[in-house]
Amino acid sequence: MRQSGILETVWAGVAAVALMATTAFAEAPPVGEPSTDDDIAAALTGGVPMGRWKEGLTFEGISPQPWLRSAANWFPGTEDVQPNEMRIIFMGSAPFIRPGQMNTAILVELGNGKIFMFDIGEGSPANIIAGGYALNQISDVFISHLHVDHFGGLPYLWMFGTWAGGWHEQLTVHGPSGRTEEYGTATMVEGMKMMTGWHRDAFSVFPVGKGWDIEVNEFDFRDNGGVVYEEDGVRVIHWQRSHAKDGASGYRLDWNGMCFIWTGDGRPNMIDIPYAKGCDVFVTEQQQEILEISSGVQGVPPFLGRYTVDTHHTPSYAAGYIANLVQPRLLMNTHMSYDPYQIEETVAEIREHWKGPYHFGAPDGIVVNVTKDQIWVREGILPRFPNSRAPQFDFSNGQLVVPHPPHAREDIQEPYVRDMEIDPKLYYPEGYHPELLTEWPVDGDLIVPLDKVPPSLSNSMGAAWRLREANQKVLKEQSGN
Ligand SMILES: [Zn+2]
Ligand SMILES: [Zn+2]
Repeated sequence: MRQSGILETVWAGVAAVALMATTAFAEAPPVGEPSTDDDIAAALTGGVPMGRWKEGLTFEGISPQPWLRSAANWFPGTEDVQPNEMRIIFMGSAPFIRPGQMNTAILVELGNGKIFMFDIGEGSPANIIAGGYALNQISDVFISHLHVDHFGGLPYLWMFGTWAGGWHEQLTVHGPSGRTEEYGTATMVEGMKMMTGWHRDAFSVFPVGKGWDIEVNEFDFRDNGGVVYEEDGVRVIHWQRSHAKDGASGYRLDWNGMCFIWTGDGRPNMIDIPYAKGCDVFVTEQQQEILEISSGVQGVPPFLGRYTVDTHHTPSYAAGYIANLVQPRLLMNTHMSYDPYQIEETVAEIREHWKGPYHFGAPDGIVVNVTKDQIWVREGILPRFPNSRAPQFDFSNGQLVVPHPPHAREDIQEPYVRDMEIDPKLYYPEGYHPELLTEWPVDGDLIVPLDKVPPSLSNSMGAAWRLREANQKVLKEQSGN
């Protein structure tokens, strides 16, 4: 009896401490008499504009949209693109590749479910994956010109995007012709086919389906204003840029009353102006006028830096000058080494002529949310060791279809080296005998009705499709169809 009494006291004490620990945070302040409306207004609007005047370099329409989880940062996988939204992410932002900055690559995702890459520089697939995109979500790549810092990520996207679910749609590469056939985008793709011959044959033991059927949409670089792409209300046009040699183009994408421009590389040029005029987000490359310093920092002889800029690139002063003629809702500059010593110089030079909304498209991971009323720019938090998103499939037919691989290992490998493989019994521990899957398990295509696909797979592999269906429904209702 006494024993249990002590225990009860102890338990009561523990409960009291626990209660104190929780109530210390949970208890609301005492209810008081509300302040007068005048006092509340005076406090809440004191010192801040609340629509009464313009503060600093704020601009009309440059503000975070209400659905953003954080106005400060974008965290991959936490925000669905809205039906009427255009989301732009810089997956690579520099001509000189280094661990913190991949080569130039800009992803544009639209509320109708379409995803486009404008350039796909070396290393940028790492950021695409870190951004939570499956490589097989990218079916159209627009290459501004054939400097390798603008397309070096293409072989990887094609090879591994196909392996990881790019089975049902071919990749389409859009790009300019060259002065002669050998310098055009089609020739580059032919060369890439040759370069990846071994790889593609080796991967043909996997379900590749239409994945290797790469298509090239090479357009005449002189056909200024020509339509490169027109589908589902998306239109992309091109025009020529002055970038040392023929075969460099700028792009403009229009969709749902919004517009994005990527100039690609090139000298400031009057051809740009009519095509870029009034576009919402104008992204230009640019170079600062600190050649002696930047050449030293980047390990380039100054005369080589000067000559490179004057034959290939847009000085920052000119980027601001052009922006002032174009009058975009937002000017962005990319294709820059994001170094402290040149950031303020870049701003100063661009501000010489352009006083409107302006932001860097660097470093990697900068995210721009665009709607008709608002634009907001944030730093995306890209994880360093992300795993890939599940491949995304269109389940409109109610099935998961896995094409049969075109080859078995026997077709492409001599038996000797397989026969010499070490017997698994020798290395797997006692009691562990995995059934090795050395032959593709089914004849013909594997067709799985959606209700037989395990929920974890159906949910992860159908997420983009479900979002697209939901967004397109909203878009259709808006257009009255
Ligand atoms: Zn470049
Ligand atoms: Zn270039």
